[in-house]
Amino acid sequence: MNILFVATELAPHAKAGGLGDVMAALPMALARAGHGVSLVVPLHRGLKRAGEFRATSLEMEFPAGGKMERARVWQGKRGGVALWGIEKDEYFDRAQLYGEGGGDYPDSLERFNFFARAAVELARYIEPTPEVIQVNDWHAALVPAYVRALGLPMKTLFTIHNLRYQGEFPAQDFRKLDLPEGIFRPEGLEFFGKLNLLKGAITLSDAVNTVSPTYAREIQKKEHGCGLHDVLRGKGKWLSGILNGIDEEVWNPATDGELKKNFRRGNLAGRLECRVALERETGLEPANGRPIFGMVTRLVREKGVDLVLGAAGEMVQQGGRLVILGAGDPVLEKALTELAGKHPKQIVVRTGYNEGFARRIFGGSDFFLMPSRSEPCGLTQMYAMRYGAIPVVGDVGGLHDTVEDWNLEKKMGTGLRFEPTEKGMRGALSRALALWDTPSMMKLIRQNGIKKSWSWKAAVPAYEKIYRSLVG
Ligand code: ADP
Repeated sequence: MNILFVATELAPHAKAGGLGDVMAALPMALARAGHGVSLVVPLHRGLKRAGEFRATSLEMEFPAGGKMERARVWQGKRGGVALWGIEKDEYFDRAQLYGEGGGDYPDSLERFNFFARAAVELARYIEPTPEVIQVNDWHAALVPAYVRALGLPMKTLFTIHNLRYQGEFPAQDFRKLDLPEGIFRPEGLEFFGKLNLLKGAITLSDAVNTVSPTYAREIQKKEHGCGLHDVLRGKGKWLSGILNGIDEEVWNPATDGELKKNFRRGNLAGRLECRVALERETGLEPANGRPIFGMVTRLVREKGVDLVLGAAGEMVQQGGRLVILGAGDPVLEKALTELAGKHPKQIVVRTGYNEGFARRIFGGSDFFLMPSRSEPCGLTQMYAMRYGAIPVVGDVGGLHDTVEDWNLEKKMGTGLRFEPTEKGMRGALSRALALWDTPSMMKLIRQNGIKKSWSWKAAVPAYEKIYRSLVG
């Protein structure tokens, strides 16, 4: 099968969250299984500078924003996947992928309309012609609309990595697109009088999937549907959930160059050194036999950052330490920085994006906090388990599917799950502290987590099944 992925992130040089990691792994896993796989991304500044892509002589011309536009195409290759980069410096040579200072760039619609239209043009150009175009999240979400409007034969699969970000714009902005009037209807891109790109992709694509089975069920209900539960339910059997994997080579404590000492599942001696190194690096007072809680996250409400703010005092009182790495909402950044200011020897907060530090948190903390209120899949809990940190997670979405709640009687489980409320967070904290006081149980649960495999191999047959049902 020939598949073209369309996405706006590719780790490590163009990554804002999990989407970047997924694009650096799933297409490659499909290529390893024998498929012809391509991936097209905007040629963001980080990608252009990294040297993985090279300029080609191919220049595409197409209408975008009501005029004829041109885009130079760049090319690269990774793990058997043909990489294509759409060059348009005016739109993509920027400091960030989506925006600076907490908001989106004001010309987001123009940028991602251009990208989607260019990606569809590329789909017509590459050989062999892709049978399926797999479109990811709202930034790429105009692709199914253009495939339909141009009458192209490719089937489209729309993958939702996060339903919360929909690409909503005022109705009059529809004029900025290069689509026939008829597509601005409830069966297309219109949603309650607004232009809604994600919703348009749900209705206009041939199939939709999301990144965990539980999230696929949750989003069909009002509570987690972000307003789109009825639209999603309308997809019937064409909506499914496939659990993400992780790249077990890239995320491997036995080889990770960012760790003070490497370690593997049979011998965790090196992990103790990583723990001490984390205390030193952060300037924390040595935990002296008490646990270190870690957190690596985008700072947004859905990640439950406020729940950690509420529980941090108790954590410190019980002798615990807290290390947080996060970037995002300036209000949450400020609240966390103030919290750390109150407990400078027990709580460390670093803002900004820092993958090396993230890895050292996975490798050096005892518990990994992820009190999400909603989580499509989540990758960090899997990284944490692989690096020996015990996940303490909100019982939602992909966290429900990947973290098995510890059962003391059966001595089974890989972490702690709780209802993501203040009360739930307090309960989880006391369970974690009780567990900490029983080292043999800590060891067991940590080993259970480390032993798990999160390889992408499991997802490949599930995607193949969808492609086959689309192509027939
Ligand atoms: P989401 O996509 O919702 O942000 P995921 O858990 O699926 O959540 O993926 C987040 C990815 O981004 C992980 O690879 C995580 O390590 C990384 N990440 C998040 N915040 C930071 C940060 N401040 N610095 C470095 N890496 C981060």
